[in-house]
Amino acid sequence: MVDKLSKEKRSLLMGRIRRADTTPELAVRRLLTLLGYRYRIHFEGVSGRPDIAFPRKRKAIFVHGCFWHYHQGCPSGRIPKSRTKFWLTKFEKNRARDRRQIRELRQHSWSSLVVWECEVDKEDLSKKLIRFLGLPRSTG
Ligand SMILES: [Zn+2]
Repeated sequence: MVDKLSKEKRSLLMGRIRRADTTPELAVRRLLTLLGYRYRIHFEGVSGRPDIAFPRKRKAIFVHGCFWHYHQGCPSGRIPKSRTKFWLTKFEKNRARDRRQIRELRQHSWSSLVVWECEVDKEDLSKKLIRFLGLPRSTG
């Protein structure tokens, strides 16, 4: 699908996804609020600047677009057929940054959860969030 996008559309898409409040991230935040969690967004208090942070729990959630973060095994995590080398380099850079963020957080005793874009609409996501965070309104 993605390979068929024109260059123009692709850069439009890139601009949209580059912005902080991507749609999948908003969806996850909405779900967290619904479940009764309170969180901080784009938290500067720890290295890695997690998308969604729970400072008292020392937990972070990253919401990753399947295309940009090259979700392996996912239909959206594919390498476009044109400019393959360019995309491979780009994806590898993104993935390296993801790993670095998680590693830096771990060094500060934070644990991280990655939520993929393709998981956002699944019922299991609530369970996954609760499993990671503990029951809502416990230690905030
Ligand atoms: Zn995916």
